[in-house]
Amino acid sequence: MTHTETNQRRQWLIRTGRYAILGGLSVLSLNLIDRALRGGCVRLESPCQSCELFKACELSKAAEARQATTEGNPS
Ligand code: SF4
Repeated sequence: MTHTETNQRRQWLIRTGRYAILGGLSVLSLNLIDRALRGGCVRLESPCQSCELFKACELSKAAEARQATTEGNPS
């Protein structure tokens, strides 16, 4: 293997590593943006009452659902 081939291989590895890091950062960023847009809610499309986190959830959507449930069933 010549010095030029070794140098080309090294450059290819550096480029590949750079793109892998860039891809990882992109996925992480999209994940953080998605989480921020959902406000921490894991099931944005379904009603809170069917969510497994409903009892312990402190998000405003869950609080509103609890309040609606309480107002609907006065006891
Ligand atoms: S209980 Fe909380 S996490 Fe579950 S759907 Fe409602 S707001 Fe989202």
